[in-house]
Amino acid sequence: MIPRILLCLALCLPAPAMAENLANKLFGAKQAPSQQDPMPIGSYARGCAAGLVELPETGPTWQAMRLSRGRNYGHPAMIGFLIELSQAAAQIGWGRGLYIGDISQPRGGPMTSGHASHQIGLDADIWWLAPQRLDLSAKARENISSIPMRSADQRSVTEAWGPRAAKLLKIAASDPRVDRVFVAAAIKIELCRGATKADKKWLQKIRPIAGHDTHFHVRLKCPKGARLCETQKPTVADLSNGGDGCDDTLTWWVTDYLNPPKGAKKKPKDDDAPRKKGPREFTLADLPKQCRTVLASD
Ligand SMILES: [Zn+2]
Repeated sequence: MIPRILLCLALCLPAPAMAENLANKLFGAKQAPSQQDPMPIGSYARGCAAGLVELPETGPTWQAMRLSRGRNYGHPAMIGFLIELSQAAAQIGWGRGLYIGDISQPRGGPMTSGHASHQIGLDADIWWLAPQRLDLSAKARENISSIPMRSADQRSVTEAWGPRAAKLLKIAASDPRVDRVFVAAAIKIELCRGATKADKKWLQKIRPIAGHDTHFHVRLKCPKGARLCETQKPTVADLSNGGDGCDDTLTWWVTDYLNPPKGAKKKPKDDDAPRKKGPREFTLADLPKQCRTVLASD
């Protein structure tokens, strides 16, 4: 009889070639968008994107950061949104505009490091560092860091917080193209404090999430006519609490989440929370079939 462990070595482990065929690697290796009409394919955390466009590295009101990562590509709707938001940021005196972090890889898809989502060109990270200059060299953009807007103990905002930061989030969340904006819970708690009834609608789009202390994350809805793009259902909490999310589910992030009581329920799964072990590995078979065409396209 063959010992079980040997049998498993032969059958249970992926063949050595498998690692090379991981969708994370295949999409990570692409240097340019596909020459196809723009189309987000699949869902934010499981998909890819055709016909993405590059956010120019520097513009009148923005700079793309960490250029070596090659993640300054998005759906044209996202690139248009980011440029407009950077103009609005400059207008309210949020420095000179925006420092923009990761959007997607040239053809979207899962990544070898970092995010779970950002796969279909409709997610973008925006640094909490308000730009004092927009002439940073590529090298400087590798080396400088954003600033924390949430305290290290996760319970409050830092002194960087203020009315301009709140205004910037309000502008982003009030945009009809935006599906949701992820922030550290302490930021949402700050926004809920003293919020009026009129704020309910945009506050509903501001969602607490783990991590995200030095940037906020904007997610757009599927653009009109994007038939391969899967929309995201609102979370149960949003439907049950009257809409703005300024309630116990929010307090949980600065109580039980940080100090879980014995026998506490596990926290709700979130598709964009950073994973300790790095992003999930996907094979091409895990992704919508059109992603093969995206990879093979010129
Ligand atoms: Zn993000």
